[in-house]
Amino acid sequence: TSFGFKEVSEEEKGRMVGNVFSSVASNYDIMNDVMSAGLHRLWKDRLVSKLNPFPGMKHLDVAGGTGDVAFRIIETINSNSRRTTKVSTEDDLQDKTQIYVCDINPNMLNVGKKRAIEKGLGEDGSLVWVEGDAEALSFQDGSMDGYTIAFGIRNVTHIEKALAEAYRVLKRGGRFLCLELSHVEIPVFKQLYDYYSFSVIPAIGELVAGDRESYQYLVESIRRFPSQEMFASMIVDAGFQKVEYENLVGGVVAIHSGLKI
Ligand code: SAM
Repeated sequence: TSFGFKEVSEEEKGRMVGNVFSSVASNYDIMNDVMSAGLHRLWKDRLVSKLNPFPGMKHLDVAGGTGDVAFRIIETINSNSRRTTKVSTEDDLQDKTQIYVCDINPNMLNVGKKRAIEKGLGEDGSLVWVEGDAEALSFQDGSMDGYTIAFGIRNVTHIEKALAEAYRVLKRGGRFLCLELSHVEIPVFKQLYDYYSFSVIPAIGELVAGDRESYQYLVESIRRFPSQEMFASMIVDAGFQKVEYENLVGGVVAIHSGLKI
């Protein structure tokens, strides 16, 4: 690339991703706040509001890490159902809400489990933590009402495989939503953003996590990720319909969505 990064082999990509998330699992959440100036919270809120979660839903959050997206889904469902008064036994017959958090890294899931306990979330069994690979999910065909992946698909070795798996596990009518760091095309803002990513992020990585190389890799992986349009067409190729995306902060992040009809 014009930034002089060397090409990374698939094996190396896997190793680097593993390193990053093992070395940062414990301070991962702090790093998110530091690097995005807290904005990742609003982006995740937006993702979950697009999902429009409902009681009794079966949902899969892939690359769910320390649980940020899953917690928001449960909190949204809880606050909505508190507003509706419980009337009949119909509620009792209603399917149990199940939010599955799937991640390849058990360290991230362990941090998530601790956070869930601290927050008092999932005590009713609504949160299920599953170690697994986005490219080969252990869930049955047509078993999920929703699928989310936040800041995860960029790290997956074969994006097409992850998309095919998302399509497979969703029910008809199920929604795919992906929040990912994307591409800024607005002049000046793009230059500022480039400076921030290539100079500031690795420096913060070194300062806070003592690991410059891994954060440099992360920045590089953002550049390598397909453009908004290109990624949308990959989602179409996986079989999804009504594919669209929304840019946030001029494309620093984008939320892509698709329906399995
Ligand atoms: N979704 C969480 C969030 O937004 O806070 C975590 C995002 S974190 C940047 C990326 C996560 O993707 C890490 O927890 C990592 O272990 C996970 N991951 C990387 N490759 C994966 C794969 N092939 N399958 C499942 N998870 C993966």
